[in-house]
Amino acid sequence: MNADTKYEAVIGLEVHAQLATKSKLFCGDSASFGGEPNTHISAITMGHPGTLPKTNKKAVEYAIKMGLACHCHIERFNYFARKNYFYPDLPKGYQVSQHTTPICQGGYVIIRTTQGEKKVKLNRIHMEEDAGKSIHDADPDYTCVDLNRAGVPLIEIVTEPDMNTAEEAFQYVTEVRKLVRWIGVCDGNMEEGSLRCDANVSIRLKGETTLGTKVEVKNLNSIRNVKKAIEFEIERMTAMVERGEKITQQTRSFDADTDTTFSIRDKEEANDYRYFPEPDLTPFYLTEKYIQGIQSNLGQLPEELLSRLQQEFALTPYDAKQLCEEKPEADFFLETAKHTNHYKAIANWILGPVKQYLNENHVSFSKLTLSPQTLADMITLVDDGKVNFSTASHKILPVLFAEPASTPIEIATRLNLLQTNDDNEINNWVQQVLTKMPEKVSEYKKGKKGLIGLFVGEVKKLSKGKADPKTVTHLFEEQLK
Ligand code: ADP
Ligand code: MG
Repeated sequence: MNADTKYEAVIGLEVHAQLATKSKLFCGDSASFGGEPNTHISAITMGHPGTLPKTNKKAVEYAIKMGLACHCHIERFNYFARKNYFYPDLPKGYQVSQHTTPICQGGYVIIRTTQGEKKVKLNRIHMEEDAGKSIHDADPDYTCVDLNRAGVPLIEIVTEPDMNTAEEAFQYVTEVRKLVRWIGVCDGNMEEGSLRCDANVSIRLKGETTLGTKVEVKNLNSIRNVKKAIEFEIERMTAMVERGEKITQQTRSFDADTDTTFSIRDKEEANDYRYFPEPDLTPFYLTEKYIQGIQSNLGQLPEELLSRLQQEFALTPYDAKQLCEEKPEADFFLETAKHTNHYKAIANWILGPVKQYLNENHVSFSKLTLSPQTLADMITLVDDGKVNFSTASHKILPVLFAEPASTPIEIATRLNLLQTNDDNEINNWVQQVLTKMPEKVSEYKKGKKGLIGLFVGEVKKLSKGKADPKTVTHLFEEQLK
């Protein structure tokens, strides 16, 4: 048996997501990314003696929102605990976190891989505050500390050791990122560190039920790196076991230049953080009514919409999946579907020319100026044969983006783009082409039927796109019989 089929990998992921609140978890300091170092800080962030923190209600709401989106049980009785450790970027000497009562427990996230659909089981989602940032390259002699990030609210989403391949892990983080953005609790920006992932990996013989010794690869800052780090670890650990070496529990880091990981420290035994309940914050109890309120404002989740788009609007699984990548896109589809029932065309327009235009101009979908009604009008214009799709997408759409108040028919008229169904006019163009290309005509008559495309193309040029290609094709076929 070769090593690939002899072993199976076991993977558990811990994803930290920065909650999109205006202020920090326990004080009013700004929680926004960046800013001049050490400007989003007050005596509370600095942990000065005598200061009193208080809990940000919005952060609690966001944590519950994510828990409900992941089908978790929501803990009613919550308290925060101090997790004590010393580190230069931790001004208080402890991190406020949740210990025995994570706010969300259990639950799952649905992923799709080449192996099919799978519910990845969650262990918990808990709330905690972020630490500051040590900056090693700002000064030649010193490490600088920026505390702007200290105290920013995070949720840590922890899976069970329930994944077995790098592909599953890749899809899992992709889904989690999509979900937090969809429900608006985190911007999902991995470059800015709003979403960070630690990957725990072990291997064992296939069929074995006990878990192998794991290593933890810390702070993966892109979904690709999550995949690459896991692939590397599986290979490295398999080779070690095959050589008869023992795997030691380690914390490792990923080197994106070489796609390899390296050890930062051996974890001999569990750290003792001397957890105890945070005495400066009151425990809080969540009522049924409060949780119900959040549930009823959650809206349709991507998973639900995915099947609705296929059932109610008869979209293909591919189109439905594409539209469910981002909420603004899905919402735009649903709004447009109120004005036209040519659903397939709506999907084609959104996933084709509209997205292409936005990408090329680096505009996000939420900044789209086109209205659902206008897109529906455009679809009707094409369906009525007044303009063809190519003219509509290449010539009318760009003008619409610049003049969102205009209608497609106005623009088509103004730019003289309306197709003509006037047979006399079209016939004229057809005759011109036939006279111009006698050799091609005789080749066609000898059986080279593919030349029809060339003829139609010539009329397209002559008419500047105004001749309806269906009519043109028909006329040529008549003439060349
Ligand atoms: P730690 O105390 O080291 O943080 P936890 O038990 O809290 O470990 O688990 C952290 C993460 O590691 C979880 O996502 C869990 O699923 C995963 N995990 C735990 N044991 C293993 C293992 N043997 N192999 C792979 N992943 C594991
Ligand atoms: Mg851990």
